[in-house]
Amino acid sequence: MRLYTLARKVNHRIKQKRREDAGKYLSPVRRLEKFSVPVGEKVVSMTFDDGPMNMPANPTPDPKYENWGLTKILIDIMGEYGARGTFNVVGTTEYNYPDKQGMIHKPTWSGVKHDHYPQFGKDQYAGAKNQKELIKALIDNGHEISNHGYKHILFGKNHLVYGSREHFSNIYEVVSDLRQLHDLLKTEFNYDIMMSRPPHYIDKIPDGFTSYDAYALMKYDYLAASFDGGGWLPTVGDYKEDVRRMVEPLENALKNDANALDGQIIFQKDGYNMSLMTPVATALKEQLEILKRYGYKVIPVRELKQKYPFEDFCDTSKNFEIARDLDQKGYIIGYKTNEFKPDKELTIGEMVMMTLTKDDYKKALEQICNSPRDKSIYLQQPYYLGFLHYNRLDLMDRADSIAKKEDIERFYKESLGISPSIQKNELKRFEYLEIVNELVYHLV
Ligand SMILES: [Zn+2]
Repeated sequence: MRLYTLARKVNHRIKQKRREDAGKYLSPVRRLEKFSVPVGEKVVSMTFDDGPMNMPANPTPDPKYENWGLTKILIDIMGEYGARGTFNVVGTTEYNYPDKQGMIHKPTWSGVKHDHYPQFGKDQYAGAKNQKELIKALIDNGHEISNHGYKHILFGKNHLVYGSREHFSNIYEVVSDLRQLHDLLKTEFNYDIMMSRPPHYIDKIPDGFTSYDAYALMKYDYLAASFDGGGWLPTVGDYKEDVRRMVEPLENALKNDANALDGQIIFQKDGYNMSLMTPVATALKEQLEILKRYGYKVIPVRELKQKYPFEDFCDTSKNFEIARDLDQKGYIIGYKTNEFKPDKELTIGEMVMMTLTKDDYKKALEQICNSPRDKSIYLQQPYYLGFLHYNRLDLMDRADSIAKKEDIERFYKESLGISPSIQKNELKRFEYLEIVNELVYHLV
């Protein structure tokens, strides 16, 4: 356990640094952790990883759930509270053999080379491939489905905790795995998945690309979380205590600040924890009871994002409506960190990128994946695809310079064929939204 705690600390530091870097770039894929909602709005999302699971809860939380599969229990409890979640499901882990069973209570509990859900040797009881009636039940009850990978194979190597795990070797393998689950949901349920969370949050793909690139090719957002709902670590051997550890942090957060969970994404598990127990089956009801007491509504992440797309820009800000509209139309206007930074001065790179849609980006990325030269420029300069799209590599050297009025006028005239009305010499990002909006209406 000590190694595990240390690994989490190191991970946390790496993540902070990564976040600072990520905040520099606009991206078609945004890391959704939380959203800025108007004060007192009281909306929150709950996400459940690794299901759906059709094996019983351990222990059974209530006699009425005797012999019910876990996902069905969670659906029932959520229904009681009018809560709707985001279920981050897998396809199946049944092809991840030969493998050995690791030690219970350890990260390898479900397998040494791969994960097996709901448990080693019982793969057919979890996942969308073999549990279609559970997927149907989730969709019918208004829950969201997101893509946790068809086989739950790591995108790349994790040296710390999951060092013995096999992983994908390039972006094509990652995308084809994601595509397999995406297509299953589309063909069998006519359901469009819009986001994904990588297995164990491993982002680096060995060929230099990352989960964000894979998601750009899928036109997904990155489903992260801001609040750990617990229930996935090993048990302390005392079920009551395990449940308490899932309920108390949430209760304390709200005791300190009733608005603490506004716009947040809670992380949980739809499956056994490392000790083959399911404290979530008891804790969920208590969590929902507390959320209800504080007046929270639990809605899927996609609905939260649709209403309040960014984590630093909301309803009461000028031009927010334009931003939300452009975001829904697929324009690349937010940073990788899900920030909008309305008051930041507009740069040349941002000027170009904000006129691009996720579709444009996807096409450009598909084209350069095979060219080592293009790929290495892109990995250094994410705005390369924007300059490439307009055949304006001449602007690339100035990507980080502030865009002046004449830069905007020239780019719009030469590359887009329109002359926007610009009042000031330099624009803040929220002011530039009006010009992009003008362009979008011009295009219609
Ligand atoms: Zn997982």
